[in-house]
Amino acid sequence: MTDPALYPCFLGPYGENNELLERLVIEFLRDHVYWRRNVHPEDPPVIPTNAALMPEYQAFSADLRRELHSLSAALKRSVPFHSPRYLGHMVSDLLLPGLLAQIVTLPYNPNNVVGEASPVTLDMEISAGLQLARMLGYRADENRADCAFGYLTSGGTTANYQALRQAQALKWFAPALAGALRALGEDLPCRALPDAIRALDDWTLGNLSPSAAIDLLGAWRLRVNQASAGERAAWQRALSAERFETLGATAFFQRHPQLTEAAVLVPVTAHYSWPKAMKLLGLGTANLIAVPEQGMRLDAAALEERLDTCLRNKRPVLMSVAVLGTTEFGTIDPVHRVIGARDASADHGLGHWVHVDAAWGGYLATLFRAPDGSLLPRDKVGEGFAQFPSSEVYEAFAALSEADSITVDPHKLGYLPYGAGAFICRDHRAMELLAEDADYVFGASSDNYRKRFRNLGRYILEGSKSGAAAAAVYVTHKVLPLDREHFGRIPQQTVRSAECFEQAIARFAERVADIATVCLPFLPDTNLVCIAINARGNRDIAAMRVLIESLYAQLRVADGQPIQQRAFFGSITTLKPDTLGAIDYQRVLDQLGLDPPNTDEDGRLLILRHTLMNPFLRDEHGGTDYLEMYLEHLESLVRAALKGSGVGW
Ligand SMILES: *Cc1c(COP(=O)(O)O)cnc(C)c1O
Repeated sequence: MTDPALYPCFLGPYGENNELLERLVIEFLRDHVYWRRNVHPEDPPVIPTNAALMPEYQAFSADLRRELHSLSAALKRSVPFHSPRYLGHMVSDLLLPGLLAQIVTLPYNPNNVVGEASPVTLDMEISAGLQLARMLGYRADENRADCAFGYLTSGGTTANYQALRQAQALKWFAPALAGALRALGEDLPCRALPDAIRALDDWTLGNLSPSAAIDLLGAWRLRVNQASAGERAAWQRALSAERFETLGATAFFQRHPQLTEAAVLVPVTAHYSWPKAMKLLGLGTANLIAVPEQGMRLDAAALEERLDTCLRNKRPVLMSVAVLGTTEFGTIDPVHRVIGARDASADHGLGHWVHVDAAWGGYLATLFRAPDGSLLPRDKVGEGFAQFPSSEVYEAFAALSEADSITVDPHKLGYLPYGAGAFICRDHRAMELLAEDADYVFGASSDNYRKRFRNLGRYILEGSKSGAAAAAVYVTHKVLPLDREHFGRIPQQTVRSAECFEQAIARFAERVADIATVCLPFLPDTNLVCIAINARGNRDIAAMRVLIESLYAQLRVADGQPIQQRAFFGSITTLKPDTLGAIDYQRVLDQLGLDPPNTDEDGRLLILRHTLMNPFLRDEHGGTDYLEMYLEHLESLVRAALKGSGVGW
């Protein structure tokens, strides 16, 4: 049954909360108008009060109405994301606090590129970053020198770009600094280094751990701040002339022959924003190394092996990536093992950045957080669930605080309007290296955390950006704080739905056993559940793909077909042998009664994919269990598809 605390949170599948939404929209729209009038109440109306009587005015408003009617009619063909019949992609109904805050803010049109254009919402964006940082276990006290920092991006894709940009700026900072010090005839002691910087070779400097590089940056800034104005300018020029960002890759590596282009290690399930990022930043997809999976999760031993190979071949590593909630399967990589591998290889002189791509799974961290911000023990997190969280999943979430940066999408499991992604880094000092003018030398506004980031546009990929989106994220987190007792009630509901769905699938499998073999190809880590279905007696992988395609044809939004004709909406995905790993792939083939593919054959399995985000899938009061209804519908689709085809088609 649905947690009653969630009843007012959304507009609702039936628009149940229409009055609440309407009342608040009107109230705050009027409030905006009063604000306009009160900026200078002595000014008379500029648009004459009789303007509405003029023919041009009437023609305009008639045109406007007509076009809005036509827009509104066309929008009726939209995908009904709000419906409990929608089990497809990573989207659901919108949280009312976010929707309202966005609507309320839009007419003020703040631009969060810089504080001058957004006196209110930029501050909210910085606070929202800290709210997310706290949810992830990062230090979120802005008075600390090593406080985390987060800001909003257009989505997970651009947050991933920012992670690479930031890791790269930090990675090549130390060798550049050594070059600058040589040119200046200076040296710099730094407690994080085994030796004074000029005594270290390029390989060592280019492969410091991120925390050592941040310490070095701090030491440099301290030294520069103590210098005279003239000296500072000379040092700024010297460092700037040596930086990777100034020279470009070719000239930089010519100056540092021990260093070469660095590798980025991502699991094979990684989102396609990673190859996009490698192209965009000129890093080259050839430097993107795919780490295989074991049982649907990044194989930590394989990661260690690849790191060892890089070390042996003297190939620097820029970053390794763990995915917290893969886009296709919702599975959780062992973040704790990726962190372990990072620390071990740093000990061997191969320091690198760890980024966690938690675009999908980030908000599940609310399940693990107490209201005071502390991490809950595993048995407490597991209360109310049958299995969640497995010990690997628990360890992965507990280790988030040790990652160097994290991507989270408020517009996915945060139930907020597009485009609201977020980039969060563990230590805000790393941001300095991205500033468009040399704050890291002059230390200008840099001593005050908020003041510095009021120049947000200097640090990020975007320029002008929506302040309304920031207000939406901030207000949502205020109404529903990011802990288990508040926001966490939403993922609690959906993860429980997923656990019930699993049991219902077992019953479904028995019901259709006369004609089909049904299995869960892997146990869901979270609230994304995939189902594999094969006709009984069929041994051919390609024939199974045809069956799944035919089922999906009935579960998708089709061009020119009214959405009302669809009973339910689902999605599909492919399961490749290298995603599962050899052992699990064979296990799934055996479960489904499939022959292994010949060497030249396509071994991909097509499976049904269900994202259970809607909190109202199983409401006792309405008497409707949408998940049971869905499986009954699926049964009829399977029976229709296999009718007359005969066993073994
Ligand atoms: C959705 C997703 C992205 C991309 O995020 P957008 O907001 O669509 O840009 C990146 N990584 C993962 C794991 C995702 O699930």
